[in-house]
Amino acid sequence: MDFNHYFTNDEIAHLLDEWVATYPGLIQVSSIGSSHEGRPIWLLTLTNQSTGTDMEKPAIWIDANIHATEITGTTSAMYIMHHLLTGYGTDEQITRQLDQSVYYIVPRVNPDGAGWAMAPIPRYVRSGVRPYPWEEKDEGLFTQDINGDGKILQMRFQDPNGDWKISSLDPRLMEKRPLNENGGTYFRLLPEGLLEDYDGYIVKMARPMEGLDFNRNFPFEWRTEGEQDGAGPFPASEPETRALVDFVVKHPNINLAITFHTFSGVILRPYSTKSDDDMNTDDLWVYKKIGELGTKITGYRCLSTFHDFKYHPKEVATGAFDDWMYDHLGIFTYTIELWDLPTEAGIKDRKLIEWWREHPHEEDLQILKWIDEHGASDAYMDWQPYDHPQLGKIELGGWNTMYTWRNPPLEFAESVVKNQYPYILSLGDLLPHLSIHSLNIDKLGEDKFHLNLVVENSGFLPSYTSQQSKSRKSSRPVRVELELADGVVLTSGKHREELGHLEGRSNKLEVTTYFADSPTDNRARLEWVIQATAGSKIKLKILSERAGLISREMTLQ
Ligand SMILES: [Zn+2]
Repeated sequence: MDFNHYFTNDEIAHLLDEWVATYPGLIQVSSIGSSHEGRPIWLLTLTNQSTGTDMEKPAIWIDANIHATEITGTTSAMYIMHHLLTGYGTDEQITRQLDQSVYYIVPRVNPDGAGWAMAPIPRYVRSGVRPYPWEEKDEGLFTQDINGDGKILQMRFQDPNGDWKISSLDPRLMEKRPLNENGGTYFRLLPEGLLEDYDGYIVKMARPMEGLDFNRNFPFEWRTEGEQDGAGPFPASEPETRALVDFVVKHPNINLAITFHTFSGVILRPYSTKSDDDMNTDDLWVYKKIGELGTKITGYRCLSTFHDFKYHPKEVATGAFDDWMYDHLGIFTYTIELWDLPTEAGIKDRKLIEWWREHPHEEDLQILKWIDEHGASDAYMDWQPYDHPQLGKIELGGWNTMYTWRNPPLEFAESVVKNQYPYILSLGDLLPHLSIHSLNIDKLGEDKFHLNLVVENSGFLPSYTSQQSKSRKSSRPVRVELELADGVVLTSGKHREELGHLEGRSNKLEVTTYFADSPTDNRARLEWVIQATAGSKIKLKILSERAGLISREMTLQ
């Protein structure tokens, strides 16, 4: 398998069929919905089906490519699946995980948008391809490939009032005009495209025709078009978003989630809308710990979207998937922004958002040099004269952003996704996991038995995942059901018992021995006294939505 590759929709469908045929006991494919243009949204369930159905096991969620151009996420999801499937039976960690837990993977949430982005004549939209909010075109510039070379580059033309000039470091580069400089040759810089209703004078950036952003359409603090662009007419209004919401709420076994985006080389965590001070503190500690693990493995920093990834210091985004998953359901969810061109070019620990407003021009050259060496031949194009139907004589050239900034050059795709894989596997080791610590039957006398059950959670996370889940009541407490054959009578204890929740190790994060505070709060005990003739059968079921299900059949003797 070559993962220096960006998968088309057809290639994904083909590969999934192949995997299902090759590993029938480990992977199941289903379509959880249809996109706006009618394409299936594939969901893969990876678990060893002979050790129980997916719903009986704790789960991890992975999705990718909700934003149209962020196709590296899909490569990452495909890489993870390939390695889980081929590692089963030989790799101890993978085998244990697929025996005991389940991965739900949506490799491409947005097949329409990705299809447009990867077409021979590409079109880039934020998310959906449905015209929104209006059916008519706005006036102004629409980004598109105007010369049919398969690339959407940049346009420049001279204007004495332009804010750009040709770089003093490299004539292919553009440099910002200093605020107090006059008398030079200046340029306007625009994305490659055509103008709607151009009057010959005013160049306006048009509102995008397909203005939806699926990652604003989730039911967390959703806002109208007047308050936030592209969030859709109502929460989960779009079929792609709706498919995810429907599936997730029907699968309360999900504890952890990763949503792959590009770019910035960072692991983002909730909230987008509020400060860490306003979060549940215990959950924040866990969020940070799991994030630190990610930083250690991938090199990506783990940051709060609110504190470190706001596009504008005074504006927050609402309706995002990770916020909804955590806030409503208490699922620890991280948004991984794969790939960062400046970092790759040697610009370390940049301020992710501020960098766009302010950085030394030398860094632009550093990035261009890296691309010259490592990018495809069309990654950065020399400026060429072009007769624009509306703007007249202009030049086309500059960044081919799709395979430089938005996604790694093809030869770097595998190294980017490979880097994430061990982190994903380590998340699989954090799930809560229900197990039986002891189960004893003692004969008390003629036809009288004592049943002693100690259940435990052997995972890192508790059976309720997070404090948020507990306060939202989004996960049921652990319960035990006893099924008795005819003639078997309970003399003490109940057929159905609530065990409450079982802690894991996530509430024991203090690193100092001083507190010596490590109770067995991951265990619970139940007792029954049963009247029955020897040889009678009883059935025991221990159920936890988040940590799994255990069934046992016993004979009283
Ligand atoms: Zn994104």
